[in-house]
Amino acid sequence: MSKFWSTLTKRTEPYVPGEQIDNKNIIKLNTNENPYPPSPRVIEAIKWEMENNLQLYPSPTADPLREKIADYYQLKKENVFVGNGSDEILALSFMAFFEPGKTIRFPNVTYSFYPVYAKLFGIPYEEVPLNRDFSILVDAFYQSDGGVVFPNPNAPTGIYLELEHVVDIVENNPNQVVIVDEAYIDFSGGSAASLVHTYDNLLVVQTMSKSRSLAGLRIGFALGNANLMEALTRMKDSFNSYTLDRLAIAGAGAAISDNRYFLQTTEKIIQTREWVTEKLKRNGFTVLPSATNFIFASHYKCKAKPLYEKLKENNVLVRHFDKQPIENYLRITIGTDGEMDSFFRKLKLVIAEVSQRTIKI
Ligand code: PMP
Repeated sequence: MSKFWSTLTKRTEPYVPGEQIDNKNIIKLNTNENPYPPSPRVIEAIKWEMENNLQLYPSPTADPLREKIADYYQLKKENVFVGNGSDEILALSFMAFFEPGKTIRFPNVTYSFYPVYAKLFGIPYEEVPLNRDFSILVDAFYQSDGGVVFPNPNAPTGIYLELEHVVDIVENNPNQVVIVDEAYIDFSGGSAASLVHTYDNLLVVQTMSKSRSLAGLRIGFALGNANLMEALTRMKDSFNSYTLDRLAIAGAGAAISDNRYFLQTTEKIIQTREWVTEKLKRNGFTVLPSATNFIFASHYKCKAKPLYEKLKENNVLVRHFDKQPIENYLRITIGTDGEMDSFFRKLKLVIAEVSQRTIKI
């Protein structure tokens, strides 16, 4: 705290991202990154851009990239907005569509950036409890005062909400924007993307950080009615015209064009997720049904906090949220098969230590 800080700085409570530890010996399963590298075409495109165009500003509207994303989702360029990670797009959306004085709703177990943005922009919020099985209580989101935001699949539970229920929430908030944060959608059921033709209050937000292996390049995008896109552009252009640099625009365009690589890597992650889920269940874990590239699991005997701490001592990093009602769950990102084998070897030791008895894994 300093006398030079503004009132806003003093009252801000920043989001705490998962640890990024610079140690090659760590099995890093804590920030839902993709264990596979991006498509080789991404590297080629970035190299070309680096060698030819870095002295020039990028396109402020990132037109070539927006066109590719629009083609992929059978939309128009006017229905696409791009940003520096979906976090930036979420922040801009809170500014563009939610009001101080009108209460928005999101689930009580969800992406922990939402309350941070709400507080930053002075937007009151209501945290709607999940059902006992951790699914979203759909009708509790109807007729909101200020709007709705939720991830689908939800994070960190990993549970997917069927599209018909997404539609229920959108239809029952005709005068408010409903933001569906689809950060993990490519590992699950259908996206709400095609519904933006029908609903002018639906904003779908996605990222290339997970399924396209580009967390380090920072690319997010939003899909919606052209009026919503215009609002986001107005907000963006009020503080930074060039949120995506040339390398990001080139790399992201190449990633969206290489559908074959994308399908192969996402399919592989889903396969790994399935065997990891079964193995965790066989070994005393309750595992929520994941439609993402991570698993949310709780051990019948060992508390999650000591498991997290001991795993970390053993060079395995997972994520633990020390808050009710999820304090006994670990969020485990799906790595390669090899990483998950090592994870299970370490887990066996850690469970034995934490529970003071050996468990057959
Ligand atoms: N939404 C959810 C639900 C997330 O888990 C994440 C990743 N932390 C994001 C958005 C942001 O992803 P990015 O900024 O990397 O696009």
